[in-house]
Amino acid sequence: MRLYEHQAKDILKRYGIKIPVGTIVDTAEKIDFDKTPAVVKAQVLVGGRGKSGGIRFADNKDEMKKTVQQLLSENIRGETVKKVLVEEKLNIDHEFYLGITLDRDKGIPVVLASAKGGMDIEEVAMESPQSIIKRYIDPLWGFWDFDARKIIRDIGIKGKDLIEVTPVLSTLYKIFKEYDAELIEINPFVRTTEGTFFAADAKILIDDNSLFRHKEFEEQVQQEYNDLELRAKMKNIAYVDLDGNIGIIGNGAGLVMATIDTVTLYGGNPANFCDLGGGAEKDRVTNAIDIVLSNKNVKGVFINIMGGITRCDEIAKGIIEYKNIKRIDIPFVIRMVGTREDEGRKICESNGIPVMLTMDEAAKMIVRLVKEKECN
Ligand code: GDP
Ligand code: MN
Repeated sequence: MRLYEHQAKDILKRYGIKIPVGTIVDTAEKIDFDKTPAVVKAQVLVGGRGKSGGIRFADNKDEMKKTVQQLLSENIRGETVKKVLVEEKLNIDHEFYLGITLDRDKGIPVVLASAKGGMDIEEVAMESPQSIIKRYIDPLWGFWDFDARKIIRDIGIKGKDLIEVTPVLSTLYKIFKEYDAELIEINPFVRTTEGTFFAADAKILIDDNSLFRHKEFEEQVQQEYNDLELRAKMKNIAYVDLDGNIGIIGNGAGLVMATIDTVTLYGGNPANFCDLGGGAEKDRVTNAIDIVLSNKNVKGVFINIMGGITRCDEIAKGIIEYKNIKRIDIPFVIRMVGTREDEGRKICESNGIPVMLTMDEAAKMIVRLVKEKECN
């Protein structure tokens, strides 16, 4: 999950990294902030706010109020602005970039630092990658002040500035570890004309798999899911909405992704990702179908089961029970192999639901059935 700038900055501040003085508001009336000129920043999770009008400046309190009001009535690249951060405007002399992320190939953290920070960091990375320093962190060795100091020196910070900035980078690694972050970034990390350094922006992405260790974000995570996704979560089903019209259900994330790919390959458009997990019993199957069909775009359902601990007959019973109770006329195509596949197939076929042997056949069939339905 991604934290809002003001949340990330609060964390940085608690760990001793200097951030500009500021206040967070959700209505223009509530602002109680005297420092002008100020910068007024939309709190949204989409990136590139500066380039899409989400960062504005105000010279006096009147302007500050108006700008806050304006931003609160706007969308930044499709995201509604619910909160605004108002901060003292820094006199920027130079913008640096500091970040730590996980290198997924090597499976270890990597520090990225550059003297060319700011809004164009993506272009810098494309056009002059050599101006971004990249240093891997061996987690067993750790990340020591002298490791940090070397990097800071390499982006051109010297003398007493080096002493001020080095702990910022080592602290970033500390936060990265303690918050189970996938990414922590200060861009820009600013030197002011007065010669002080501030984190002018902050970004923290927390690994969703570690959220059980960070209960303080529980409520916020819930808000990121839509109703169907939440309903699924409560039933122990992994569900993600997609924008097509073919419902997909399978057991195991890899199998479900492969199913989505195969349906797409044959010209179909998956409506969701839905993973029953291992050893699903009848009830979990009916719940999953119910959730998938709650999406009114769904014109057909493809259930793909690789029986291991999951028993095909149990799945079949769930499907039939659901179809019999709800009397739906949406086509279902099943592919099931593995544990108790013969029993499962019999149950489906005696109820008029086709069972295919291969994922390929089944994918082609559901795509054809849904297309036919669309033509009618
Ligand atoms: P982002 O576009 O979402 O990354 O938003 P940032 O918070 O990084 O702001 C974008 C740009 O606005 C920065 O790179 C700065 O150039 C500028 N900016 C942000 N805060 C200040 C400030 O306090 N003073 C000045 N002069 N510029 C600022
Ligand atoms: Mn930024």
